[in-house]
Amino acid sequence: MNIVIFGPPGAGKGTQSKFIVNKFKLYQLSTGDLLRNEIKNKTQLGSKISSIINSGELVSDKIVSNLIEKFISKDIYKNKIIFDGYPRTLLQAKNLDTLLKKYKQKINIVLKLSVSLETVKKRILERQVKENRADDNEEIAVKRYQTYEKSSEPVIDYYRQSNLLKVVNGEAEITEINSEIGGLIDTIKG
Ligand code: AMP
Repeated sequence: MNIVIFGPPGAGKGTQSKFIVNKFKLYQLSTGDLLRNEIKNKTQLGSKISSIINSGELVSDKIVSNLIEKFISKDIYKNKIIFDGYPRTLLQAKNLDTLLKKYKQKINIVLKLSVSLETVKKRILERQVKENRADDNEEIAVKRYQTYEKSSEPVIDYYRQSNLLKVVNGEAEITEINSEIGGLIDTIKG
């Protein structure tokens, strides 16, 4: 089973991914974490992307596609991936389908966490205190939310058309969201 978790910054994608990883024994593939690692490790790619990430824009589709292929191609992750923060554009969604097909896999469910801009701002400011992420401040949070709004619509339509999309209320308590998501995944597992 492969899962896509989708939603604006601060929607709780990371928190819910960790819950799903533990409950269903999957692996979390967070493109945001992979990109932040590149910056932390001061790689060539890291120096190229840090200003893009810190301005709240998206890095290029090609860069993230290369990162995720490294993951999808490994046998241990086969049909056990939760894609956290990927795809974020229609091109990435189509690319993900192509890559999964190449490695004889598919997406089984797309979970969209819906939250308002007000909640996003509040959560991001809380996270800034805990995790000290360079892109977690109010101004960049609003920018990231706007970037999400702009690029996500076609992705949502794409998954709605393929009947994979499930919308989850990301405003609810963490445990409530856990159980809603758990139930949805149980249904598709059969
Ligand atoms: P996240 O941790 O998912 O909020 O991602 C942090 C930042 O990394 C985003 O604001 C983007 O700049 C970049 N990023 C993460 N995933 C992607 C993606 N799939 N496509 C483009 N940029 C991404």
